[in-house]
Amino acid sequence: MIQVSSNFDGGNIICDSSERPDDIRLRIRPDTKADFFQWFYFRLSGARDEDCTIRLTNAKDSSYTRGWEGYRAVASYDRENWFRIDSRYQNGELILRHRPEFDSVHYAYFAPYSMERHADLIAHAGQSPRVTHSVIGQTVDGQDMDLLTVGEAPGNKQNFWLIARQHPGETMAEWWMEGFLDRLLDPDDAISNALLGRAAFHVVPNMNPDGSRSGHLRTNAAGANLNREWQEPDMDRSPEVYLVREKMRETGVDFCLDVHGDEGLPHNFIAGAQGIPSWNAQKDMLLTDFKRTWQQVNPDFQTHHGYPIAKKGEGNMTLCVNHVGEYFGCLAMTLEMPFKDTADRPDPKNGWSPARSGKLGASVLDVIYKLFDRLQSDAPDNSPG
Ligand code: ZN
Repeated sequence: MIQVSSNFDGGNIICDSSERPDDIRLRIRPDTKADFFQWFYFRLSGARDEDCTIRLTNAKDSSYTRGWEGYRAVASYDRENWFRIDSRYQNGELILRHRPEFDSVHYAYFAPYSMERHADLIAHAGQSPRVTHSVIGQTVDGQDMDLLTVGEAPGNKQNFWLIARQHPGETMAEWWMEGFLDRLLDPDDAISNALLGRAAFHVVPNMNPDGSRSGHLRTNAAGANLNREWQEPDMDRSPEVYLVREKMRETGVDFCLDVHGDEGLPHNFIAGAQGIPSWNAQKDMLLTDFKRTWQQVNPDFQTHHGYPIAKKGEGNMTLCVNHVGEYFGCLAMTLEMPFKDTADRPDPKNGWSPARSGKLGASVLDVIYKLFDRLQSDAPDNSPG
């Protein structure tokens, strides 16, 4: 008998029919208290050596239908190695075709990053002599908000903030963090060593634990899109943002990178804070140089494709990048990675992957190193305290 299940960490699917392998009909469940959906993650059991046709019948009503064009789902037998499978978007349905080699197989929108793995990441990082781990408070559902502080920044040293996964379905963001932290904590890495003598890195690998555990695409347990909460976060609706913003005000911020994934565009790109009132030529030059340098050190990053740029003063100030850029007078950027693949350097077997996300995360340290002296707040009140 074929069975479909998703009652586990990060799981998301509703099964309408699994009586025949060539007609498995499923739907993606919307986020709790919100209408967003696109993330799916489920296990199919009992279909070894059967030609399966799996239809996600509500794909046409998902949050980003452009995301299905040219998209291929991922599958795994061991939940470690994820590979792409034949997928097509047709008549409003996402249709997956696959013949499982084993009794059970997992399918997902992108390689999942579970809360169990998050706990492992925090525990592992916490054993480094370079790391201070703090629980800065709790989420709506009562999970811990983990902050890793790497290095020390007493006095007037620089404070760099990197956060990921405000949108929980963008799991590549935490894979990125894993690669970034691995390198930052490597005592044999000369760049990391040099940076840690001069700056503190404040790292939130997962901004949205509740959404992650519940298999959400975009919101927390209260239905809040955290990347629209930065102007006025509150402890009932968006404690995750409130708590991190308070910490930022304690330390000051000289550089902020907010890590995301984009459903539609098959590219890695940065969205800047050009729409903030205080945007100026100096910041524009710094943003341009940051992007150019990243492209030079890692060809998976590119500068040609991206979002339309907001005019100065017309930016949405509820976004992390705009709020932080304006309030702290620092370079603040959103990094977007693809769910699909990079169009310039495609990988037919894996597409964009956890491994490539991690390498991209590690490579940002080269960029920060090269531009270090220019990554400083220009706001007079950015002092700690
Ligand atoms: Zn996002």
